[in-house]
Amino acid sequence: MNERTGNIPAWVPEGQAPFASMEIPGVVRVEKQDSPKVPPLKKADDAKRLAAGVLEGHRGDLARAITLVESNAPGHRPLAREILTLISQKAQPSPAHRIGVSGVPGAGKSTFIEAFGNFLCDRGHRLAVLTVDPSSSISGGSILGDKTRMELLSRREECFIRPSPSSGVLGGVTRKTRETILLCEAAGYDTILVETVGVGQSEIEVRSMVDCFVLLMIAGAGDELQGMKKGILEIADILAVNKADGSNEIRALGTRAELERAVAFLNPCTEGWTPPVLAISALTGKGMQDMNDALTGFHQHVRTNGQYAARRKLQSISWWKALVEQELRARFFADPEVSTKAEILEARISQGSLTPSLAAEELLGLINFEKPVSR
Ligand code: GDP
Repeated sequence: MNERTGNIPAWVPEGQAPFASMEIPGVVRVEKQDSPKVPPLKKADDAKRLAAGVLEGHRGDLARAITLVESNAPGHRPLAREILTLISQKAQPSPAHRIGVSGVPGAGKSTFIEAFGNFLCDRGHRLAVLTVDPSSSISGGSILGDKTRMELLSRREECFIRPSPSSGVLGGVTRKTRETILLCEAAGYDTILVETVGVGQSEIEVRSMVDCFVLLMIAGAGDELQGMKKGILEIADILAVNKADGSNEIRALGTRAELERAVAFLNPCTEGWTPPVLAISALTGKGMQDMNDALTGFHQHVRTNGQYAARRKLQSISWWKALVEQELRARFFADPEVSTKAEILEARISQGSLTPSLAAEELLGLINFEKPVSR
């Protein structure tokens, strides 16, 4: 009962008949600019048009080109290749800074990228944020994609945010991320932040595609330092203890001192560079200038001693090798004779009637090398 009519429930909108149920229009969905449908590209001409749009910095074309690069549809691969070839022919005025950002879930990665990203954009940079999320390749879910993230940053013209491609094995996800980096650079983004969750193999993959690797930590990590994988600290070029604010500041400074002592005993990832340990607060913006100074110092260091160019060369070569290996493996196992034989051999190995090395020899015997391979 309500005062309006005496017998129409209060939730019935003004002027509506009091039906037992009714349809009320919901929120109109607006197609997101950065997630267009896979374009109906078929011809090389379309690839040329899209590549030109990317080079002119059109966000829509960049998003469409990335969608093509990420697509697993066999028909899209030649077009993606065509676009990548076209953009690689145009020399970049100066290479973008590629920076990896990692840390355990909850360390504050997205809050940090929001704060530091805005800091960079305010100073005239154009920033692309990409994510490598291993959970999306394993479960189809996404640790990094589910939350409302980087709200201010995502509305800025100077920033382009692209969540992780959501299918395939980690190797496939990182192939797509590498190609996406090239597309973003071609579109004129001068800083590329590649974010990943600090839970294992994905850091190593991200380390192999960036110039500098930033690891976010939180207070208390010092207690676990003994059990922490040393490897993770060893691939970092800059360490930052986040959440150094309010009542947590003292603890954060303690963790920072502890980490500083620890890094002194580690093999540095970049020759001649001892990773600085910062205390920052992504929430209040404290330490963003220190982070910028640390990144600038790192880039100066690697550029003057030649490691920057050497690392990029090495990365390209290992990427090329990985691509060849992946493709060889895929083509080999796509052969029906190979897959049938592989199943039989696998069963025999499980039963214990064949050793793995003999089984490998037998399977590889199916390859018909026209020319003998000299060893
Ligand atoms: P992610 O999982 O690493 O991306 O972490 P989030 O950025 O989502 O942050 C996890 C939680 O920590 C959120 O509730 C943030 O508000 C909070 N947080 C992040 N950075 C800071 C910080 O510098 N100080 C404080 N006090 N809280 C923070």
